[in-house]
Amino acid sequence: MIRRILVPNRGEIAARIARTCRTMGIETVLAHAEGDVSPQARRLFDELISLGSAEAAQSYLNVGQIIDAARERGADAIHPGYGFLSERASLAQACAEAGLVFIGPSADTIEKMGSKSGSRHLMKTLGVPVVPGYDGDDQQDSTLVAEADRIGFPLLVKASAGGGGKGMKIVRSRDEVANALASARREATKAFGDRTLLLERYIEHPRHVEIQILGDSHGTVLHLFERDCSIQRRHQKIVEESPAPLYGDDLRQQMTKAALAAADGVGYQNAGTVEFIVAPDGAFYFLEMNTRLQVEHPVTEEVLGLDLVRAQIEVADGKPVPWGQDSLIQRGHAIECRIYAEDPDEGFLPQTGRIEYYREPAGPGVRVDSGVGQGTGISVHFDPLLAKLIAIGRDRDEAIARLRGAMEDFAILGTRTNLSYLRRIITHTEFAAGRVSTAFVVDHEEDLRAVPAPEAASVAAVLASEGLGPGSPAKSAGTVRSSVWEMLGDWGR
Ligand code: ADP
Ligand code: ADP
Ligand code: MG
Repeated sequence: MIRRILVPNRGEIAARIARTCRTMGIETVLAHAEGDVSPQARRLFDELISLGSAEAAQSYLNVGQIIDAARERGADAIHPGYGFLSERASLAQACAEAGLVFIGPSADTIEKMGSKSGSRHLMKTLGVPVVPGYDGDDQQDSTLVAEADRIGFPLLVKASAGGGGKGMKIVRSRDEVANALASARREATKAFGDRTLLLERYIEHPRHVEIQILGDSHGTVLHLFERDCSIQRRHQKIVEESPAPLYGDDLRQQMTKAALAAADGVGYQNAGTVEFIVAPDGAFYFLEMNTRLQVEHPVTEEVLGLDLVRAQIEVADGKPVPWGQDSLIQRGHAIECRIYAEDPDEGFLPQTGRIEYYREPAGPGVRVDSGVGQGTGISVHFDPLLAKLIAIGRDRDEAIARLRGAMEDFAILGTRTNLSYLRRIITHTEFAAGRVSTAFVVDHEEDLRAVPAPEAASVAAVLASEGLGPGSPAKSAGTVRSSVWEMLGDWGR
């Protein structure tokens, strides 16, 4: 019986996990990097324990330190969240050895699915379609060049151990192959400590559609339908939704069936995601399997009306999956936007600084999962995700309208964010029509560019006049005239 969970993570996902634990009467311990505690974490966790260093490598990535912290605070389980050690077999293995429950799949499954090449092999044996390509052990340049010729151009060179959109190179012609191999190898070695590469045909204008699955220790695996995550920047998702727009039940059924075959084939336990790429002609191919909770899991929760973190904890605790497949019905439409501390007008440069004023929106069908507040410092050492804004509506139009309204009420001052960029995406006519692809932000680059915004200096003046300048005590949101936010326009959002 799980009574106390240690969360070696940060930001919005740490808070997200603690919230569910509260509803289950489970105690929580946040294991954090030195000084890295969000206002939400301070409020929601029962205990905090510093992992002793401000550096990720010595804290959130330090397996020994995390296990020690769990022992010291009497935790009986660890929820890894996403990122950091969530997809490293080493933490799952160390938990097993220490007699702690790892809230995720087994070390063996993580290991198997951690290699894109290895998981492609496995999928082929299970009859799941993969992108035409090369995933062999022979990594000599001459072999890879010959395989590139066979596959044809454009093609994608990928790091087998890759993640987060890193280690990928598009190759448009034969004379670019050698360079792409060298640079992908360098990046792969540096970022993932593994130089293995694979080649895939580069599918143009595809959609990224993934299937959420959940398995228990009694041999049951369910699917929780799809998420469309086609709106990406540099192979990283920024807007995600469920259901996938414009797709009929036929494709949905084929894809959920393939995802279940994949999950069944590896005896999958806990929550996982099978990612596919869908070509414009409707053909779909396996990309990879993520053996953890996904950043975009809230859209699935909203459309199905359930709590995925709760389900993760229950199946990790040996209980059966809490629902029957037939009881899961998609209702309405949910969309999530990832709000980052970055400046879209300056090449998406990650921002640092401090949040001087912070106000979250609310209202029917609006959900915010965040890990920041007034006074939060933004560091370049961690992922720049500040918050996720999720809207649910009876249909896609209503979800978009609610998102738009919520964005206008969302205020983050003191650091630049991509909020206005996200607003331009979700209000774009092509997005409204559901015509999305992974090339969306490149195809509509001009339309997504900012209109001239007021200067920071005038914003500071406005804030000062409202008693909201840096250093002055912020007034409660209720006393701030909405005209201030109109005057602020795009700045800081
Ligand atoms: P999702 O499908 O959940 O959005 P992402 O690929 O965007 O998955 O990654 C989720 C989080 O995990 C991000 O914070 C990303 O930076 C981090 N991440 C992904 N892969 C790795 C990896 N191999 N090593 C470290 N962090 C990673
Ligand atoms: P990561 O581990 O970084 O998430 P993925 O293999 O899941 O790597 O790919 C990330 C994104 O890159 C996909 O969502 C898609 O936009 C793009 N991508 C990956 N493979 C292909 C491909 N063969 N053709 C076109 N785009 C691809
Ligand atoms: Mg992926």
